[in-house]
Amino acid sequence: MFRQKNLGPASFFVFEELEEVPGFVHAFTSRQTDAPNQEPAPSDEVPLEKRLLLETLGLQPNQLFFLHQVHSNRVVTVNAPTLKAAGPTSLGSADGVITLLPAQFPVIRTADCLPILVLLAEKKQVCVLHTGWRGTRDRITREGVSQFLEATQASPQQLIVAMGPCIRKCCYEVGPEVRNQYARSGHDLDRCFSGQQLDLVEANLAQLQELGVTQILDSKMCTACRTDLFYSYRREGETGRMWLLAGFRQ
Ligand SMILES: [Zn+2]
Repeated sequence: MFRQKNLGPASFFVFEELEEVPGFVHAFTSRQTDAPNQEPAPSDEVPLEKRLLLETLGLQPNQLFFLHQVHSNRVVTVNAPTLKAAGPTSLGSADGVITLLPAQFPVIRTADCLPILVLLAEKKQVCVLHTGWRGTRDRITREGVSQFLEATQASPQQLIVAMGPCIRKCCYEVGPEVRNQYARSGHDLDRCFSGQQLDLVEANLAQLQELGVTQILDSKMCTACRTDLFYSYRREGETGRMWLLAGFRQ
């Protein structure tokens, strides 16, 4: 179950099922996580409004990995220890990260796009993905999970996949050109669309099921319906960003 968690002064969302995994830390942030009156910082720094979260989780900025997210299907793998002395590491332009070592915490930033967390608890390895309509069209989830399976030598049934809050089909009307692009890319249109509405969750679920992933958790929360809790680019225009942050302590 996806629920709000209050830890000391910080508030964020977690999947209860993943709280049971030894050594695993994860947070899906909300509006309530962010300290008020703090402007977001440039992307390679830890923004002021998220520092309270890091302190509460006991994480150092140099344990974080950021992407320059570009709506691609590119996924990068981190398999060396963090060398930076201070501050987060920027992994360049990509929309997914695989971390094979503990004490590394990749961050995905969203405001309507779907953040996906993939976990191999036995080996303490993690993959996080950012996917909106373009990334989903280009099958970043299939790409990322395939790469993760290859890197970890795990079977699809060993993985746990969790889908965070995103804009859902109730609020995601798209133009006919989006549907046409999905048609050209060979997606199952009946599954991905209902009328003019794009269903990001179903479209990504299809990719996971194609690979044989069976353990899938869904937050079932729509960012555009719940702007009291989440940022929604569609609903609000210029707005903040939520984080998905995940990794193993040791
Ligand atoms: Zn909605």
